[in-house]
Amino acid sequence: MAHYDLIVLGTGGIGSAALFHAASRGLRCLGLDRFPPAHDRGSSHGESRLIRLSYFEHPDYVPLLRHSYALWDALDPSLLHRSGILYAGPAEGDTIRGVLASAREHDLTVDRVEASDFPQYLIPGDACALFEPDAGWLPVEACVRAHLAAALHQGAEHRWGETIEDWREREAGIQVITDRGNYSADRLVVAGGAWSHQLLSQLDLPLTVTRKHLHWFQCQDQRYQHGFFIELPHGQFYGFPARDGRLKLAEHSGGEAVTDPLTASRERDPTDDQRIEAFIADHLPGVMPTRLKHASCFYTMTPDADFIVDNIPGSERVAFAAGLSGHGFKLAPALGQLLVDRVTGGSSSFDTRFIGLQRFAA
Ligand SMILES: Cc1cc2nc3c(=O)[nH]c(=O)nc-3n(C[C@H](O)[C@H](O)[C@H](O)COP(=O)(O)OP(=O)(O)OC[C@H]3O[C@@H](n4cnc5c(N)ncnc54)[C@H](O)[C@@H]3O)c2cc1C
Repeated sequence: MAHYDLIVLGTGGIGSAALFHAASRGLRCLGLDRFPPAHDRGSSHGESRLIRLSYFEHPDYVPLLRHSYALWDALDPSLLHRSGILYAGPAEGDTIRGVLASAREHDLTVDRVEASDFPQYLIPGDACALFEPDAGWLPVEACVRAHLAAALHQGAEHRWGETIEDWREREAGIQVITDRGNYSADRLVVAGGAWSHQLLSQLDLPLTVTRKHLHWFQCQDQRYQHGFFIELPHGQFYGFPARDGRLKLAEHSGGEAVTDPLTASRERDPTDDQRIEAFIADHLPGVMPTRLKHASCFYTMTPDADFIVDNIPGSERVAFAAGLSGHGFKLAPALGQLLVDRVTGGSSSFDTRFIGLQRFAA
């Protein structure tokens, strides 16, 4: 049986980063996945992901975000596009209140702007608008490929087309069983995305997998140069700078629960279609109602929509990231590094108790 210093289960957004950080420390490591690099069956596909610093979800993500900015740039300076993001919503809504709280606590640049300065978005008259110039987007598949290529360059092995069936921690080490063979390792990182329930079944994590839709509509690129995140009474909608005559957008709120991400439908959903089309008609006057592309993807939600990144209780050798709740990709490099720290006894300067498993202990 082949033996490794460290095995990573799942080499999507987070696992690819963990594999790179493990390999760059000189560890002999293996990454395992059922699907090929940058595949479209999990949660890390669809051309792009927003990245932002003034984090409305929780200000404690900001140090990890700053670190992720540096790590993305170090991996490949062409990945992170600082296009800026416009936030709009009620002054007392989760988005605006959260952005301002993070900006205040961490001294971030967020400008108050007039909705009339951004006529390409029809922002409700009573909404507050903010612009974060350092926010932007990442090309998601290229990022996964970059982490995997860098990991291989550092000597990691990557096997895909292999389904992980089980893993066991014994005193002598960790055994991983796949449909192709068995492997052993001194340490294990689990980054199973929408399949975390299966790969971490012993933890009975409070996770719900939801199906989300991405849409690309026709427009003129020069009208939409920034990302946007708009909170309305009926939901949160976001989008990306237009490229090649297409603007990509989606609804962040909502989502339909799925029991098996492997067999879940990937077709368009009439309700989601209608909500997106109504959002375009009401708020994006420069976007044509011509849908050019659709994709579906999975959020893995926790009850509080914050991640769970921790060690398996009682184990210093196994760590996991799960429940990234639809906002984890931007943090992939910092989380990958953190996971490797957690199983190698490395110290981390980040306070990550807010994403610890302990908060669900009760
Ligand atoms: C529509 C959508 C929009 C999003 N927008 C943003 C955004 O703008 N900004 C942002 O930061 N985040 C965003 N996210 C969230 C972000 O993309 C995810 O949090 C992140 O990509 C998840 O990475 P992951 O490694 O956990 O999962 P994945 O990338 O899906 O990786 C999990 C891997 O584990 C493998 N695996 C699981 N079980 C097994 C098994 N038994 N055998 C073999 N392999 C297995 C899978 O094949 C997969 O490759 C979005 C997500 C979606 C779906």
